Amino acid sequence: MSQILSGMEIIHNYINGSLVAAKGGALLQNINPALGSSYSQLPDSDASDVHTASEAAQQAFKAWSHMPTQKRTAILLRIADLIDRDLDKLAMAECVDQGKPLKLAKAVDIPRASANMRFFAMAAEHFASESHLMEGEAINYTTRTPVGVGGCISPWNLPLYLFTWKIAPALATGCTVVAKPSELTPMTAFLFSKLCMEAGLPAGVLNIVHGLGSQVGQAIVSHPDIKAISFTGGTVTGRTIAATAAPLFKKLSLELGGKNPNLIFADCDFENAVSTSIHSSFSNQGEICLCGSRILVERSLYPKFVDEFVKRAKALKVGDPLDDQTRVGALVSEAHMKKVLSYIDLAKQEGGTVLCGGDRIIVPGRCAGGFFVEPTVIVGLDQYCRTNQEEIFGPVVTVAPFDSEEEAIKDANSNSYGLSTTLWTQNLTRAHRVAHQIKSGIIWINCWLLRDLRTPFGGMKQSGVGREGGWEAMRFFTEAKNVCIKL
Ligand code: NAD
Repeated sequence: MSQILSGMEIIHNYINGSLVAAKGGALLQNINPALGSSYSQLPDSDASDVHTASEAAQQAFKAWSHMPTQKRTAILLRIADLIDRDLDKLAMAECVDQGKPLKLAKAVDIPRASANMRFFAMAAEHFASESHLMEGEAINYTTRTPVGVGGCISPWNLPLYLFTWKIAPALATGCTVVAKPSELTPMTAFLFSKLCMEAGLPAGVLNIVHGLGSQVGQAIVSHPDIKAISFTGGTVTGRTIAATAAPLFKKLSLELGGKNPNLIFADCDFENAVSTSIHSSFSNQGEICLCGSRILVERSLYPKFVDEFVKRAKALKVGDPLDDQTRVGALVSEAHMKKVLSYIDLAKQEGGTVLCGGDRIIVPGRCAGGFFVEPTVIVGLDQYCRTNQEEIFGPVVTVAPFDSEEEAIKDANSNSYGLSTTLWTQNLTRAHRVAHQIKSGIIWINCWLLRDLRTPFGGMKQSGVGREGGWEAMRFFTEAKNVCIKL
């Protein structure tokens, strides 16, 4: 832990069971966003490192995919146990690397990473073939075998949480993996590679290559021997990946951006709606693809909601992620902070009024160079302006009134994204009626981010292609083969 804070740690790739530098020897700086300065280095790998990783994964595939499921499961469960054992260390690493409050990393990110490993380890033992009887004529049975080497590429907002969300089902089905975490948040993936070694994961089963998306990510997506690509990240990157992978006929799962509506009807449980909306707007500095960034409130409740929401947004403590009282930490990078601030400027140009926040915060003391932005609430914008159409991915929300259920649904659907929607009403009939008309892959009624890992997870429209979670992920990493036998 002291190494993480003092900046001694040099990150290595994990290839064929060993921790190795990039072949070319180049390094990238790893920035602590709360301080605004470099604290470690990571390999600046390239296509040749990916190729070596892919060869190792291919070699390991036969033994791993033929290993009895219970034995595979036992290894994955050991990794989950080691994550739990190292909760404090991993949470600290995530906090330093990403800028999120330590408290959040400890309560959410790391427990969810071990839950991912455990969930898919157990899923492997329950994953079964289907059979279809054609009465008096034939019987079909469908086998599902691992696709081979999977490529897993993850973003910086929930680093170990999303990294394991992809790797766990791939390994559980018997695939071997070449994975790449974000170059902005590589530390917990590196610590994870050490846990895999300790747990006895055979060499080559999981390979982690660090570096830039344009080098390492692109090399994974275009490598002919990597048969399936599971990607989470921005919609623009997703489009490039789809263009590269589609002509190679790879299986593709794309979990992309969001611009999620949060619909609040006048008959809601007000306290629950306001307090959860604060959470869904500003948790993890608003850097969660599922954050509700467009709050739409029924007009009769609008003044009361805006008053209370702004009061509570102003009260959120922004500051040192190590401080137990901090609710909003640092944004992940200087470039991202500038992007978020540029959207606040755009909102003003588009006629919006900033009711609270709107600026960078200089936190006194050790975090003076950090990338902090105030929780920001903007009103006075229609749903078709760029501020309400484009993903900001920071602690910035807009609030707007609606007059009828039809208008609420139209506003909610007015966007090219379709990841998630939150809906607050005590009228059960309306809740179902509205939920069925919203074009999002995930709808939460009177709650937010309540996750059952068995449910399909993913977005419609420009929020992605395919679904993760439960059997969806197990199916993604396997090929179906139907065998028909005439009776
Ligand atoms: P990003 O698209 O910039 O990067 C994601 C990953 O892709 C990184 O590891 C990056 O190095 C890699 N990459 C970049 N260019 C690549 C290329 N050409 N080929 C292959 N890989 C490449 O996204 P980000 O900024 O890291 O993450 C934020 C985005 O992720 C937001 O848009 C957010 O909504 C989205 N996100 C979506 C979900 C979801 O489940 N739908 C979850 C979390 C984040």
